[in-house]
Amino acid sequence: MAEADVIAALATASGPSAIGVIRLSGPDLKPFMSALLGRQIAPRRAVLTDFLHADGMAIDSGLALFFPGPRSYTGEDVLELQAHGGSAVLQGLLRRCTGLGARLAQPGEFTRRAFLNDKMDLAQAESVADLIEAGSEAAVRAAVRSLKGELSAEVRGLVSELVTLRSWVEASIDFPDEELDPGDHQKWRENLRTLSDHVERIRRTAASGNLLRDGIEVTLVGRPNVGKSSLLNRLSGEELAIVTPVPGTTRDTVKGEFLLEGVTVRLTDTAGLREARDPVETIGIERTWRAARASDVVLLVVDARIGRTAEDDLIASELPPAGRRITVFNKIDLAGDSPRHQRGDGDPEVRVSALTGAGIDQLRQAIVKEVAPTGLDLEGVFLARERHVDALSRTAEHLESANGRLGQLEVFAEELRLAQRALGEITGELSADDLLGEIFSRFCIGK
Ligand code: GDP
Repeated sequence: MAEADVIAALATASGPSAIGVIRLSGPDLKPFMSALLGRQIAPRRAVLTDFLHADGMAIDSGLALFFPGPRSYTGEDVLELQAHGGSAVLQGLLRRCTGLGARLAQPGEFTRRAFLNDKMDLAQAESVADLIEAGSEAAVRAAVRSLKGELSAEVRGLVSELVTLRSWVEASIDFPDEELDPGDHQKWRENLRTLSDHVERIRRTAASGNLLRDGIEVTLVGRPNVGKSSLLNRLSGEELAIVTPVPGTTRDTVKGEFLLEGVTVRLTDTAGLREARDPVETIGIERTWRAARASDVVLLVVDARIGRTAEDDLIASELPPAGRRITVFNKIDLAGDSPRHQRGDGDPEVRVSALTGAGIDQLRQAIVKEVAPTGLDLEGVFLARERHVDALSRTAEHLESANGRLGQLEVFAEELRLAQRALGEITGELSADDLLGEIFSRFCIGK
């Protein structure tokens, strides 16, 4: 699926720097080499050369590298020009490239071409962007695993198991006269169970990888003055929110974050939930509900001296019922209580003091436990996206539906086909063009 035109972009960050790299990709870059360098250079060798204007004068001199297709990043001819990093030099070089007929690349277009030319699958292409954006060392390690194709290999393994099973089932539908061995159904059921277990294992790893990539969104809600801002500061270890003894001082949402075993936990403190008296407060309160509804975990903060009041129950009733919620009893230093984490029938409860820091570690652990009940096992995790977790969940659902349908072979076969289709979305074998457009548009230019 070769693209006809030549694309060019600055591959390094813009702004003055020692070196700036301009990258070109296209089906045939020899004419560009002649015009830009005045000669052809040997493949995969760094060559010190002038970069030439149309009139033969040097724009700059630096290193040029040529990767003839298909052994290149994009699978096409790729030319890299390492020039001095001033913006006038780089803009001049880019103008020269477009003057020669190249087009400025769209975000992610180099990687998109790599995908279209089968240099990598979709999950690998996505991990290129994830690696660039990774916010912790653990995320970097996991993104590299995805880039090397570990997620893709797991998915391909699942597809191959599924294809084997499907071929038996489809054959028995196409040739109904062939007697089915009575043991066959039993065997298929066992295959299906093994497959489901395998999908579930990968889904769990992908979910951890997704946490590593996207982090955990936490919102603090509660009556004014219970200590939400103090708690946010204590959890994030920074003085972010204004803490005052006057109720209603946190009018807008305030954010903080901390890293827990490589996972970013983002905190949003909210306007005190009470009847607003002025328009600014009304906006703040509206944001509170929006943040709370969109977050992974809600901390309902209450005053440990008073316990949960009718007003707290009212706040709790406004939160989505399916939301993960922790009741935090704050100010235990005043209540004469000790830090504790307990999980009864209802929401888990944690007792803390934002003032002294007692119980804060337990609270951090409790937050992670809500989103990863079996604990964060980031060893061997590959970075994954919500899209991958969702596709794996749908695969599991189709396998589950297939399970009860062995009596209706056509339905059984159809569920298996749908399961395979969901898996194909991950590696991009069956992804619609608009999905591809959306994925690659999130890349930075030059990638
Ligand atoms: P918010 O309105 O819920 O954000 O509450 P703030 O964080 O502004 O706290 C209100 C008041 O309670 C401030 O005077 C804090 O210093 C105080 N406070 C917060 N947490 C604690 C705590 O754990 N112990 C004690 N003794 N005071 C606290």
